[in-house]
Amino acid sequence: MTTTRILVTGGAGFIGSHYVRTLLSPDGPPDVAVTVLDKLTYAGNAANLDEVRDADGFAFVRGDICDPELVGKLVSEHDQVVHFAAESHVDRSILDADAFIRTNVLGTQTLLDAVLRHGLGTFVHVSSDEVYGSIGRGSWPETDPLRPNSPYAASKASSDLLALAHHRTHGLDIRVTRCSNNYGHHQFPEKVIPLFITNLLDGMPVPLYGDGLNVRDWIHIDDHVRGIELVRTGGRPGEVYNIGGGNELSNRELTGLLLRECDAGWDMVTFVEDRKGHDRRYSVDFTKIRTELGYAPRKELATGLAETVDWYRTHRSWWEPLRQRAERWAS
Ligand code: NAD
Repeated sequence: MTTTRILVTGGAGFIGSHYVRTLLSPDGPPDVAVTVLDKLTYAGNAANLDEVRDADGFAFVRGDICDPELVGKLVSEHDQVVHFAAESHVDRSILDADAFIRTNVLGTQTLLDAVLRHGLGTFVHVSSDEVYGSIGRGSWPETDPLRPNSPYAASKASSDLLALAHHRTHGLDIRVTRCSNNYGHHQFPEKVIPLFITNLLDGMPVPLYGDGLNVRDWIHIDDHVRGIELVRTGGRPGEVYNIGGGNELSNRELTGLLLRECDAGWDMVTFVEDRKGHDRRYSVDFTKIRTELGYAPRKELATGLAETVDWYRTHRSWWEPLRQRAERWAS
């Protein structure tokens, strides 16, 4: 059996590490070797990979996707890239967008340059529904124009366009995924769900932006990771695939569910000034990945949230040190 050598950028983060753990689990494909390239920024955590550290075919390289020499060497030694590495927190991009442009745009360009120089099979570029902007009614198909609003979303949209341009101009096998809001275990406690859960577990109030009526579609990381694997193994070069969870909730509704799971009441909620340029609603139409690749979200939201709260309840040693790194603010 030929082994496919996959380079996973950002594989020490929330979603990337779950992707790697899933690939190298007993239920993963039998024919893959995985190298993680991760800078270990404040959001990266080597402990997220403890489960697979001794697995056959696993390697970890600490480094920056903006480093052309390192990236060139690694790309030349691999068959495929799944690209997660990014600055991912919208609020931070509002305070200072510099690292977002460097990693999300220039880092992606550095990877694409290396692929062009050394050749590669498939390159999966992991992107976000935020690139589409905000939508009042209905859902975005992949053909909708990109109208990003936050600096984070603009940096992701830029990298999507660069990736797709390298398919059209150079014929590279680039596939783009655009996913809705993820939740699950191992998420850094600055994002809204783990921030609220860890605050509530500590008996502290939670900050709800504006009127709390912004709507997001929530997807469990198991479903996102399965969608990415379907695109890596069966998607078409040059195509974009939306990946959704089918769980649209206002932030108020989400807060209500988390309060219930944590046995807390609305007295624990502080309404705070809205995020600048806060997109009102996101909604992806994921018919394409459903019909082409047989994707369907499987994790029921109530079950997924209960499991997530339980995980944070039983993994204090994972998140307590991270909270000192994070500003207590919602995503
Ligand atoms: P995360 O912040 O948890 O992880 C990002 C990882 O990238 C970290 O391990 C970090 O150390 C690493 N990294 C950052 N800069 C780097 C650099 N210059 N070189 C090498 N590594 C670097 O993010 P996440 O939530 O796991 O998101 C992963 C990807 O999925 C991102 O591209 C994000 O845009 C996308 N995405 C996230 C969501 C979500 O809800 N979290 C939704 C859709 C898409």
